[in-house]
Amino acid sequence: MEFNEFCSRLLEKTDIVKLISRYATLRRVGNSFKACCPFHNERTPSFSVDANKQLYHCFGCGKGGNAITFVRDIENIDTIDAIKMLADEAGMELPKLSGENGKHFDKEKRLKLYELMREAARRYNENLLSPRAEIAREYLVKRELPPNIVTRFGLGYSLDQTDIIKYLEGKGYTKAEMKDAGLIEQKADKWYDVFYGRLMFPIISNTGEVVAFGGRSLDGVSYAKYRNSAQTEIFDKSKTVYALNLLKKKRRAGPLDYVIMCEGYMDVIALHKAGFDTAVASMGTALTATQAKQLKNYSDKVIISYDGDGAGQKATLRGLDILRESGLTVKVASIPDGLDPDEIINQRGKEAYGKILDEALPLVAYKLSILKKKYDLNDRDDKTAYTAEAVRCIKQLDNPVEIEEYLQSLSAETGYDIGVLRAQAKLYVDTDKPATSEPPQKEENKRGFFETFLLAAYINGKEYVDPRDLEEIFPDGFERNVVDSITDSRMRGLKDTAAMLYTDLPEGVQKQLPEIIDFDFSSIDSKADYDACVISLKCAKLEKKISELAARYDETKDIECLRESNEIRKKIKQLRELGGSK
Ligand SMILES: [Zn+2]
Repeated sequence: MEFNEFCSRLLEKTDIVKLISRYATLRRVGNSFKACCPFHNERTPSFSVDANKQLYHCFGCGKGGNAITFVRDIENIDTIDAIKMLADEAGMELPKLSGENGKHFDKEKRLKLYELMREAARRYNENLLSPRAEIAREYLVKRELPPNIVTRFGLGYSLDQTDIIKYLEGKGYTKAEMKDAGLIEQKADKWYDVFYGRLMFPIISNTGEVVAFGGRSLDGVSYAKYRNSAQTEIFDKSKTVYALNLLKKKRRAGPLDYVIMCEGYMDVIALHKAGFDTAVASMGTALTATQAKQLKNYSDKVIISYDGDGAGQKATLRGLDILRESGLTVKVASIPDGLDPDEIINQRGKEAYGKILDEALPLVAYKLSILKKKYDLNDRDDKTAYTAEAVRCIKQLDNPVEIEEYLQSLSAETGYDIGVLRAQAKLYVDTDKPATSEPPQKEENKRGFFETFLLAAYINGKEYVDPRDLEEIFPDGFERNVVDSITDSRMRGLKDTAAMLYTDLPEGVQKQLPEIIDFDFSSIDSKADYDACVISLKCAKLEKKISELAARYDETKDIECLRESNEIRKKIKQLRELGGSK
């Protein structure tokens, strides 16, 4: 089956209302559904879903499209991953992608790398049973990791430098593909498994694909305790959250009160084992906006559970602000005595850890506690600097009552008059507004009304449209892409032509589509209107050509320019007469 045809059928089989209701609370209004936009922070709903056209559009931030683009953008994944995810849900099998003109080459390659990584994960996991995996089994026993946990996280072991290479070659994969997947490297003509001798943690994307591995050294002498896959075509650590795939399964059963964000694989696994099964981990870097958005699909609240004095307080704070700016409520659990969550649970029991979560500090309170450690409040200058920073931090709260409460306790703490602090807080109002609550700027659109009408008429299947006119009027660019895409869909007899446009056209231009698809034909909708528009646009194009020729003549004095412009004038005259005779 041809790829576009497959996508069209997939869109027919997918219920966009049901899909989007997993991410936003939809309310029926007439024929459509409304919600607060899941793509930007807002309190009044400007996001609407059209059940008939199977399209969505946000009037606040301009995001819009079909089921495929929705999944792509909300999950922050590649288009092909979105298609695969919806296809899995619809019980449809992806067609073999033909690399016609290299059009789907990147998609094809991505799917191949997923298969390869899945095979590799399977092999590493089976290796745990090998007589040569004694050291890995000992480690699992020492860390008290039972078989169901090993299975849930797909843990494994890399036996030696070449086992995985031989195994994957046996399955038909090439060394080049293994290298592209980040599994092997070459040293002095010899290829080797970059993870050899390590305990393996598959890193699984939110669509359920193995995209990378983390490996923990077991011999105690390797240069790095943990090693992660390098960046590859299918793995970007700034867009990945470890164990997010498990949250997804749990989320289906009901909403999650909170997500626990910890530092490493072993923390996540220890917490799951103890029953805290909403634990995830960032990939060892500062949190990114993409990760924050992904988390927000599962819960509105995140509790940070980093090691006592782990990853550098400043880096952590920046990450926490990113979470807050994405609209998440952030709390910070303070783990005592430089221990990690695993050690707390082992030494003091899971109740002790539960209590730590209960007592987690709201982000602002946590920041203030960090600030306080930085300054000596008995020193006058320090106290002034601390107060200024504290007020700035308190101002980030949305709730005026909360702001007042914090200011009052700051006043009690520093001895500054509450009136002074309130005045200082006002000072920051305009400069510190979080940028994310504002919808992103809409793109400027220079297309005229006539052009929009022609495209809309074509998309909506008006009989008076002759595609040849459109091809002449729109030689290139966005408009031409729209025309070609519609022509192509028509020739294949596809339904949902408008919805298909979103999948077919390059990202970035899609914001321009709603204006065309939802065009209002009440004032203009006849063959005569159409002809008049076509003639007017064709003439405008020709006139533009004449002025170009005139400019060229001024420069070159080439007689040919005059001859050509006379020809064009004749054509314009003919066109005008044609228009008048109708
Ligand atoms: Zn929006």
